[in-house]
Amino acid sequence: MEYDMLLLRFGEIAIKGRNRSRFEKVAYNHVKALLHPFPRTEIIKEYGRIYVVLNGEPVQPIIEAMKNVFGVTSISPVKVTPSRLEDILQTAVAFIQQVNAAPGTTFKVSARRVWKPFPHSTQEMNRLVSSPILNACPGLKVEVHNPELNLRVEIREQGTYMYCEIIPGAGGFPLGTNGKAMLLLSGGIDSPVAGWSALRRGLEIECIHFHSYPFTSKKAEQKVIDLAEILARYAGSVKLHLVPFTDIQTSLAQTGQEGLIITLMRRAMLRIASRLAEQNGALALVTGDSLGQVASQTLSSMNAIGRATELPLLRPLVMTDKTDIIAMAQRIGTYELSILPYEDCCTLFIPKSPSTNPNLRVLENIEQTLPDLERMIIKAVDDTETLVIRPGRSVVRREAAEDKVIQENWF
Ligand code: ATP
Ligand code: MG
Repeated sequence: MEYDMLLLRFGEIAIKGRNRSRFEKVAYNHVKALLHPFPRTEIIKEYGRIYVVLNGEPVQPIIEAMKNVFGVTSISPVKVTPSRLEDILQTAVAFIQQVNAAPGTTFKVSARRVWKPFPHSTQEMNRLVSSPILNACPGLKVEVHNPELNLRVEIREQGTYMYCEIIPGAGGFPLGTNGKAMLLLSGGIDSPVAGWSALRRGLEIECIHFHSYPFTSKKAEQKVIDLAEILARYAGSVKLHLVPFTDIQTSLAQTGQEGLIITLMRRAMLRIASRLAEQNGALALVTGDSLGQVASQTLSSMNAIGRATELPLLRPLVMTDKTDIIAMAQRIGTYELSILPYEDCCTLFIPKSPSTNPNLRVLENIEQTLPDLERMIIKAVDDTETLVIRPGRSVVRREAAEDKVIQENWF
């Protein structure tokens, strides 16, 4: 069976009342951008739905691409036939025959008459369509409540749409429709997944990475750029802020507070990230923290670290098990990069026994013994280098011209 088009459905955004048309417009632009490699396709927008007319383009790769459109809850490949009874019956039989269902498969027809002048009622159509199908495929068993195979037949003036497959979409909200946040992107497994989760929830993200060059290598930096490039495939483009962290890290290490060094580093990171958020109009920070995963992610550590910022700290993976995070990383395509062994700034000073229960007062006292800390934080922000990363481009332009970027974004 050659499918004629894909039907994309919206879920949650449907309830958003006034915002709905804006959301659907963003999703439309996202679909359009992802269809760029398939020039013969056409997009038709309808209330609560988008149709992608294939015009001979291959269905499978387009389904795969459409699974990345945030805000789309499900996708159905559709066969279109003229809204005349004999055409509908013939197409329905051919449709079910190619499904090649095992004997005993339960089945029903769900007709919908959108075009009221069509001469047969919905009930009649259910019967009329079922009977030649049952003749052609005698192994099928009719079951009206919860059938394994449900052939939808939507009768419209311009044609009748037939489909039975409902493929889960990415869900969430269309790109950037819920505001902007800064993602703390390390080279690990978790933070890219946290970034993808934020994108799916309709957040625009800008990435921040802290490096301790020359203690950390250029390879480690390239790894983070490559991870951001994968996120850009979902986002259209992303900015990556590279923050020089060597001086701060060295100075924190010199306090001799081995057990607290990671906590102190994380607090400094959040303070820098908060400033970058303010400069870039972001209203939250996103991290890859997962409760209990390491010493700095105990409840007590999260508490002591989180006090360093006034912005909401979003931790999409906080309740997610590592095995599930890994499965997500594999699905979104970041896992293979994340497990490359290059050092991260935090692994350089890993203490033998990091504190799992840091005391906020003690941390604040240590920070006060470092009169230069605030100045170093400001300097790190000033010396931050910003890259703009677009999908599929290994060479990245370093630029400050913000306007250009926004124009080339999808939304
Ligand atoms: P990840 O796999 O994301 O690196 P992790 O399990 O290694 O996480 P940590 O190293 O404790 O956990 O980091 C916790 C979070 O802090 C990360 O998910 C990330 O959001 C942030 N983070 C840690 N190191 C950096 C860094 N060098 N640059 C930016 N963010 C960082
Ligand atoms: Mg890490």
